[in-house]
Amino acid sequence: MPAPDLRGAALTELAAGTAAGKWSARDLVETYLERIAQLDKKLGCFLLVDGEGARKTADAIDKRLAAGENVGPLAGVPVGLKDIFVTRGLETTAGSKILKGFIPPYESTASARLAAAGAIRLGKLNMDEFAMGSSNENSAYYPVHNPWNLDRVPGGSSGGSAAAVAASLCAGALGTDTGGSIRQPASFCGIVGIKPTYGRVSRYGVIAFASSLDHPGPFGRTVEDAAALLEVIAGHDPMDSTSIPRPVGRYRAACTAGITGMRIGVPKEYFQAGMDSEVENAVNLALAELGRAGASIVPVSLPHTQYAIATYYLICTAEASSNLARYDGIRFGHRTASAASLEELYAKTRGEGFGAEPKRRIMLGTYVLRAGYYEAYYGKALRARRLIADDFTAAFAQCDVLVTPTSPIPAFKLGERAQDPLQMYLADIYTVAPPLAGVPALSQCCGFTAAGLPIGLQSIGPPLGEEAVFRVAGAYQGRTDWHTRLPRDPS
Ligand code: GLN
Repeated sequence: MPAPDLRGAALTELAAGTAAGKWSARDLVETYLERIAQLDKKLGCFLLVDGEGARKTADAIDKRLAAGENVGPLAGVPVGLKDIFVTRGLETTAGSKILKGFIPPYESTASARLAAAGAIRLGKLNMDEFAMGSSNENSAYYPVHNPWNLDRVPGGSSGGSAAAVAASLCAGALGTDTGGSIRQPASFCGIVGIKPTYGRVSRYGVIAFASSLDHPGPFGRTVEDAAALLEVIAGHDPMDSTSIPRPVGRYRAACTAGITGMRIGVPKEYFQAGMDSEVENAVNLALAELGRAGASIVPVSLPHTQYAIATYYLICTAEASSNLARYDGIRFGHRTASAASLEELYAKTRGEGFGAEPKRRIMLGTYVLRAGYYEAYYGKALRARRLIADDFTAAFAQCDVLVTPTSPIPAFKLGERAQDPLQMYLADIYTVAPPLAGVPALSQCCGFTAAGLPIGLQSIGPPLGEEAVFRVAGAYQGRTDWHTRLPRDPS
């Protein structure tokens, strides 16, 4: 039995078809592997394709199905993992040369839960080194090209994940979002990505960048696909001390629950100078559509928004400098060829292994944590973080969900911002505050520019308000057809 036309296939349809015997898991895997072999040279989404492993898993699933077993809600669904999720027995690099050759002895909770639900891992997806970046150009290996326009970036740091789902090289994917790394690439690639509440998805086995900000989450073509993946990977995990011991919501059902009577807050600080006019128009049209769907639109204010970027880059660099101290050439991955002393071994290994962006952040982070500067920078950033979180608490007294643009600009050209780290940091203006506050936020497509580039709409909910976010995103998707558009296969 042939697999269906995979371009645009919903993950839930794929699972249902496999479970019902319409096609085999092996057929599905072969079709995706063939697309990857044909197209990924042009896109650069995968750092590693595990064809052999995927075929073996597929055959095992087909065997269990033939024996009448229920293999789970994601039966046979081929997925990709950002290369920041450790995978037992399969090289995991976090996009860095310093982890080249690192074969983890254990598996991340999120990827283990996908496998237990019947999903099949096709391989590891490209990313900015240690998830530091907004364009995927900081990958130590090669850049990713945006499937909508190969001269453009896919966004970052989960650029490989977003581009692979957009180009139908996998049916769904996992990424991580520390300051926007799920939502911004989802926006640039015209798909759905959600950063859940901090602690909703376990960080066990997710290579750390900034531990108090790192949020694993899913990418899907539709809001239902993202909801189906989140239902599987969310939930308490005793292996992560920050994991929340509360039951998982009914995210898929929320997608069709409607928004009659919901209050949608529009924060004025997210609609200011510097925003691309095509982005502004598309987001305003989306808000009008949400009004017609039965929500009331209320203006709100998040007054400390102007401090979000500075606060984020102080905290994330401080935490990164500490987290990255473990790559010393002794325990993981790369070790320099020769060194006369232990000191020199550390220095040469780190000098050779880390790219420019992690080095920049280790230096910044070490600086802001120095005894003499701690209060002036890090301490102040922690206090600003509290004010930013309090802004959200106050706003959610007046509304149920906030709706904003995801990014002030659509996908920019490869190379355009790579030489100017500050310009790159400023692209995160609308995405950094939700992780500082730990609240859930989703990006979905709300239109295209005249040049054919996707535009992202962001819905932000209160803590553990994923269902409210899916209600809004589902209501918008139900009244529009942006999510049905597909990029042309690169030739
Ligand atoms: N672009 C932001 C940064 O470079 C966010 C990255 C992320 O979310 N991992 O830090």
